[in-house]
Amino acid sequence: MADLTTRLVNVIGDKSFKPLEKAFDMRVVGDLLRHYPRRYAEIGTPTDLSDLRVGQHVTILAEVVSAKVTKFGPGGKRSRTEVIVTDGKDHLSLTFFQQPWLPKTMTPGTTGLFSGEVTSFNGRLQLTHPDHDLLDGEGDMAKSRLARGVIPLYRATAKISTWNIENCVGMCLDTLDPIDDPLPEPVRQRLGHADIRAAFESIHRPHSIAEAMNARDRFRFEEAFVVQTVFAQRRLMAENERAKARPFTSAGLRDRFENQLPFELTAGQREVINEISGDLDQAHPMHRLLQGEVGSGKTVVALLAMLQVIDSGGQAALLAPTEVLASQHFRAISLMLGDLAKGGMLGGADGATRVRLLTGSMGAKARNESLLDAASGEAGIVIGTHALIQDHVQFAELGLLVVDEQHRFGVEQRSALVDRAEVTPHVLVMTATPIPRTIAMTVFGDLEISTLRELPAGRQPIQTTVVPAERQSWLDRAWERVREEVGRGRQAYVVVSRIGEETADASKETRSLLELVEELSAGPLRGLRVGSLHGRMASDDKEAAMNAFSTGGLDVLVATTVVEVGVDVPNATVMVIMDAERFGMSQLHQLRGRVGRGSEGGLCLLVTTSEDGSPSRERLDAVASTSDGFELSRLDVELRREGDVLGARQSGMRSSLRLLSVVRDGDIIDAAREAAGVVVADDPSLAAHPALAAAVQELEHSEQADYLERT
Ligand code: ADP
Ligand code: MG
Repeated sequence: MADLTTRLVNVIGDKSFKPLEKAFDMRVVGDLLRHYPRRYAEIGTPTDLSDLRVGQHVTILAEVVSAKVTKFGPGGKRSRTEVIVTDGKDHLSLTFFQQPWLPKTMTPGTTGLFSGEVTSFNGRLQLTHPDHDLLDGEGDMAKSRLARGVIPLYRATAKISTWNIENCVGMCLDTLDPIDDPLPEPVRQRLGHADIRAAFESIHRPHSIAEAMNARDRFRFEEAFVVQTVFAQRRLMAENERAKARPFTSAGLRDRFENQLPFELTAGQREVINEISGDLDQAHPMHRLLQGEVGSGKTVVALLAMLQVIDSGGQAALLAPTEVLASQHFRAISLMLGDLAKGGMLGGADGATRVRLLTGSMGAKARNESLLDAASGEAGIVIGTHALIQDHVQFAELGLLVVDEQHRFGVEQRSALVDRAEVTPHVLVMTATPIPRTIAMTVFGDLEISTLRELPAGRQPIQTTVVPAERQSWLDRAWERVREEVGRGRQAYVVVSRIGEETADASKETRSLLELVEELSAGPLRGLRVGSLHGRMASDDKEAAMNAFSTGGLDVLVATTVVEVGVDVPNATVMVIMDAERFGMSQLHQLRGRVGRGSEGGLCLLVTTSEDGSPSRERLDAVASTSDGFELSRLDVELRREGDVLGARQSGMRSSLRLLSVVRDGDIIDAAREAAGVVVADDPSLAAHPALAAAVQELEHSEQADYLERT
């Protein structure tokens, strides 16, 4: 007898095991049982043959019309068998070589599964040398499925067919001991879900499609439930964790800063800062995600939170994903604080604090100063990149950690800083990529969420236009617009895409950027001061280029996506994005958020070679159609696949979600979150729920493995 952790090879034998291990990384019985059928065929309902497309790998259910053998070759030793099958309307030809015996079993009227790649021959579709499995009632599996009338169809490979898998699954089900269910019985009962043993039976050997769908719903819920249990545990742990309360005190730095702000906070900003302030006032750590449209003013909100912490005797760290962004934050925050950031310096205000920068490429002297000020507590705010997370960085009293652009940091990196502090700091995570609620719940389910929806008043919208590259007059007009803006004393970005995907050849990217700079300087932008910024530059040079641009020493900055996040030059009013189809929608949205940050409206030109009506053009049109990041992320999710939505970072999570769609299954995720909350509140360590505890551990383990792979 077997349970879910029994080695699969022991049940199904080496011959079937090898290809399953190779293709799907299966090891134990549970791996195979969770390889759910992709779809089902109903005996008596043949596959619609008019839907077939050349190049598809298909498994069809069809009836044999005729089978004919042709001999050829020397002495007629070679043979070709042509079998015609039908779905009742259309016909399809199947060609087999060297199997002259086939007509014996493939008699007219026989039904079978045929699996192979659709090809075209003389203008007609056919399957060449398909795998086949006749429903002739021989063998136990065949008898059982004939009796049930439903055939499961699995994701298969050339080495192992769907009916081989069906057979292996059958062997596992037949030897399966009773199993512990990760879904607690009360939860199952309330939602009307079958227990796991019965559900495995129903999803693999259903008597009707409806039965299979019910089982599928149950497993879909189970996936959501395990994820939400992890989050419920993390939230509960956070509640029990002790932190130092950092209540708001009047007449401190926060108050003084607010009073000297050159603008009114928006209602949204006020609301969010109140939420954060309330969290900081608690004796357990805040875990909050602040999401807001690009330019919605998250930095100011974060700064107010940092000042509140400083006012109550703590320090704040701001973690940025890139050096450019860290320096940018450093400059912007120092500038905004003015005299309030000149603690112990000439011209510093009474009770002023200090802001320090810490990045990997800083000189030893500046670095030591920062380290000293962090350790002594002189620096109320320390801003940095990954360098901040390293072991030797000590804080006198870290009270708040702000993480900018969360999706680039792992949960574990966050905790690296948090775990080291003697008293757990509060954590605020900021992201400018609006996340649909269901995804936020699945990916950031352990965080409370605050949202900034409005942009500061008076902010001009960004106008976005798609510029087809082949329309020379449009392209000319685009560069003319850049010249006009520069003529009015404004500045422009030109953004160059990565070449290809992850495998981006950085030197190629750099080359194409430098070529473009040359081309533009000699041609359409002649006479303008054009500079460049890319990832391969030494960080001093990067810094210099960024500085030159932000102080007006350059008219045009040609850059790679290093400008994507958070770069803030209010005088820049136009952005030209080259090969725009190579960027994701949210990335384009991020990028264009770099212009129109001042009182002037912004203009974003998406230059593309993608054809009108093509999918990539559709995405660009969508970006041009709305400046609302939330609306855009909804459109984006509709146009993308699940895996891309969760992002490469969540691949551990992703592989555990076989049926659940974080895009479509919002209701299920809601229900699971609620149910998991109840179970965890009752039994925080899941002592009474061993199967659930095991599933939770497995998920956390795969997330962990993910993280280790990344570092
Ligand atoms: P985000 O980080 O959300 O993209 P920032 O915090 O960088 O946005 O803010 C963008 C710009 O808007 C900054 O120059 C900032 O000073 C300014 N700003 C922030 N809040 C307001 C407000 N309430 N009114 C006017 N300008 C604001
Ligand atoms: Mg920002």
